[in-house]
Amino acid sequence: MKVRKQIEDAEIHSGRPKGSVRLCAVSKFHPQEDVYSAIEGGQLLFGENRVQEAYGKFPQVVSECKDVQLHIIGQLQTNKVKKAVEIASCIQSVDREDLLKEIEKQCAKLQKNIEVYFEIHTGEESKSGYGSREELFASLDNFMEGKYPHVKPAGLMTMAPFTDDKDLIRKSFSSLRLLREELNKKYPSLPIHELSMGMSGDYEIAIEEGSTMVRVGTALFGERDYGEK
Ligand SMILES: *Cc1c(COP(=O)(O)O)cnc(C)c1O
Repeated sequence: MKVRKQIEDAEIHSGRPKGSVRLCAVSKFHPQEDVYSAIEGGQLLFGENRVQEAYGKFPQVVSECKDVQLHIIGQLQTNKVKKAVEIASCIQSVDREDLLKEIEKQCAKLQKNIEVYFEIHTGEESKSGYGSREELFASLDNFMEGKYPHVKPAGLMTMAPFTDDKDLIRKSFSSLRLLREELNKKYPSLPIHELSMGMSGDYEIAIEEGSTMVRVGTALFGERDYGEK
C-alpha cells in the first residue's frame, strides 16, 4: 500500500522509530466492501466521522473481525453518544465537557471502557475543538478527580487549517505537540500520549512534527462521492 510506504519513509527521514505512526483509515462515504478490502490488505484501524453512517457499516465488520477497531473522528452530538459508544473503541473528537459526561454515562450502562482524544483548535479558521484552554483544563481536572472511571484520556487530535501554506500547517501540528508536553507536565498521571494529526494532504508534515496517528481517507480509498448520500 502506497500510503504505508510513505508513512514509513516519513518515519525514517524524521528520525523516528519504524512503526511509531499508526494509520487510521478513514472510510467515511465509502461502502462496506471498501472496508473489507482494506482489512484483507492488513488494515485494522478505521475512522468514521458520522455515527449514523458508521452504525450502518461497522457492527457487522466488528462482529466478524474481532481485531478491527473503529474511532469516531467527527463532531458528535450528545444524542448520538449511545450509538457511538456501542461501536467505537475511541472517540477522537471530544470537544466539550458535556460530551464527556454523556460518554461516561453510556459507558457505565454498557459496562464498557473507552478511550478519548481531545480535539484542539490549532489553526485560525478551524471551527471544531475545545473552546478554550481553560475548558480543557477543567475537563482534565475532572479526570483527576475520578469523575470518568470508564473513560481513558489517551491523546489529542487536530485538523490543520485548510491552506497551501506549509508553514501554517506545520505550526498547527507543532502546537499540538507542545500542548501535549504541557499537559504531560501538568497532569503526569493522565495517559495523554497520542497525537492524532495528519490527513491525506499533510500527513508527511504531521509525522515530521511528531504525529502518532494519521487519519487518511482520500489517499487510501479515492475521492469521496458526496453526491450519493
Ligand atoms: C475526512 C476526515 C479525514 C480524512 O481526510 P482525507 O483528506 O480524505 O484524508 C481525517 N480527519 C477527519 C476528522 C475527517 O473528517
